[in-house]
Amino acid sequence: MTILDGKGLAAKLKAQTREETARLPRRPGLAVILVGDDPASRVYVNGKKKDCEECGFYSEEYALPEATSQQELLELIRTLNDRDNIDGILVQMPLPRHLLPREVIQAISPEKDVDCFHPQNVGAMFTGSAGFLPCTPGGVMALLDEYGIDPAGKQAVVLGRSNIVGKPMAVLLLDRNATVTICHSKTPNLTEICRQADILVSAVGKTGLVTGDMVKEGAVVVDVAMNRDENGRLCGDVDFLAVSRKASYLTPVPGGVGPMTRAMLMRNTLFSAQRRQNFEKG
Ligand code: NAP
Repeated sequence: MTILDGKGLAAKLKAQTREETARLPRRPGLAVILVGDDPASRVYVNGKKKDCEECGFYSEEYALPEATSQQELLELIRTLNDRDNIDGILVQMPLPRHLLPREVIQAISPEKDVDCFHPQNVGAMFTGSAGFLPCTPGGVMALLDEYGIDPAGKQAVVLGRSNIVGKPMAVLLLDRNATVTICHSKTPNLTEICRQADILVSAVGKTGLVTGDMVKEGAVVVDVAMNRDENGRLCGDVDFLAVSRKASYLTPVPGGVGPMTRAMLMRNTLFSAQRRQNFEKG
């Protein structure tokens, strides 16, 4: 069994991003907005700031109080939409309950929507246009490519159908000619369906959901989930030990998809800066 080393590939991608940044007339700029004081969100925002430093980007952070109104948040987004030195705008999710995420996402200029959540970018991705890739599914595809795993002609099973992971993951695998099945909480016979998978991607958020008997001998298994076990340690959906005895390739948690998601955000921000500066690759 080979470990799909997301941490290693993410470091490589960030180094490459730094090199490409050095060739730009103006360095890429990312604005990150955090509303409220959710500790997990704070950790993610700190990570993004660190990634920006490593890639040589300019970054701005807006830590807004929990009581921020929808209007105030939209105003800030509009200001950032108009700023020349900002190429990417990211609003850290989840938002406090009184704010409307759909309206917030739609307020971000599609050309600066580096999370690829805006309906215009989602539509472009679904119709196969070049543009931003959603960070987590895009990161999974980059990891498969790095290890020479070609989805073409394979049976792929995606567990989870969220707008940010499951659905776009299925579309990217389909684009690469896999035959894709999407499962969710109402899917009967989950074990049976998973056993058919040459590539199994789990994005559910339930520790221990994917057991050894659900995995076909030689399958590629990608664990997107970021859960906490009873000791507070980060873990995925996959029973790592049992599945490692059957899989040909497997992502660890941590060190698999998580770092790839962060690296893809940097790639999207660089791509936006290149596009906005009409930068021609030499
Ligand atoms: P989500 O919006 O809660 O979606 C979870 C999905 O799992 C839903 O579609 C749900 O089905 C499905 N599901 C629930 N129980 C199931 C079961 N027993 N069998 C099959 N499917 C089941 O979560 P998300 O935002 O997609 O995130 C999923 C996981 O990935 C979480 O652990 C999250 O922390 C992690 N994540 C990681 C990264 C990363 O960078 N590594 C990025 C984003 C998310 P229904 O639609 O029927 O409810």
